[in-house]
Amino acid sequence: MAYNLILFQIVRQEKAGERCPLGKRFGMEIRMDNTAIRERYPYFYETHLHTSESSACARSTGAEMARACKEYGYTGIFVTDHNWGGNTCVDRSLPWDAWVDRFCLGYEHAKAEGDQIGLDVFFGYEAGYNATEFLLYGIDKAWMKAHPELRSISVEEQYGLVHEAGGLVMHAHPYREEAYIPEVRLMPDWVDGVEGINAAHHWYSGTLRDKTVFDKRAVAYARAHGFPLSAGSDIHSTNLFGGGMAFRRRLRSAADYVQAVLGGEDYVLTDGKVWYDKKGNLIK
Ligand SMILES: [Zn+2]
Ligand SMILES: [Zn+2]
Repeated sequence: MAYNLILFQIVRQEKAGERCPLGKRFGMEIRMDNTAIRERYPYFYETHLHTSESSACARSTGAEMARACKEYGYTGIFVTDHNWGGNTCVDRSLPWDAWVDRFCLGYEHAKAEGDQIGLDVFFGYEAGYNATEFLLYGIDKAWMKAHPELRSISVEEQYGLVHEAGGLVMHAHPYREEAYIPEVRLMPDWVDGVEGINAAHHWYSGTLRDKTVFDKRAVAYARAHGFPLSAGSDIHSTNLFGGGMAFRRRLRSAADYVQAVLGGEDYVLTDGKVWYDKKGNLIK
């Protein structure tokens, strides 16, 4: 539902036999223009990615996503499927343990493929609260199973629980306006940072609106509160947008990513077209 317009656009292009502008050929050209940045920050991560095993709106499996991201040049990916409060395709009536097992399949398939092809695959998920969404990192399947109360807790309680586990709560695309989002709700007391660059906003090819303004607002919001920024693509298929974050060193784990973001490590952000420093300033 979140990406109906985008998906429609892609499908329409594919049907028309046009070359999809989101494809890797285009991405290669962009990356060549940014060689200097990539040389300084060689380790590139997709932080916001969905799989069809777990997200109702996704079209490609975890394994397919892993292969596409490896081919694109990512060092690693975070699989962040929609949870029970979002657009999950996992039967909500399942008992908790069975639900979590089923929910983690997209990640597990991506991880198995990643281990084969040399792509680091990390776990996370996107928690939905009436379409206000949070990207959670540094938590895992065992933690989910140990906390069945996750299904009914508030945003505030979620923050406490994720922190207890040493995890990270990032507000996903806080200023996105879409039919499925009743209102923009900011909760600065209950997040650690902000997804300042959501590449899906930059690859929208409709002419009726400028979605990049959502990211400009998100970056301003983060600056006002001193929040760290993240960047991800919010991809739902192997038509990659090329968004993400690049670091100077290889991340060892999702917990390592949490430390890097909270610890003020040096990294850069991209929407798949241009690069920004960690404060969201365009790198020229
Ligand atoms: Zn979705
Ligand atoms: Zn998402």
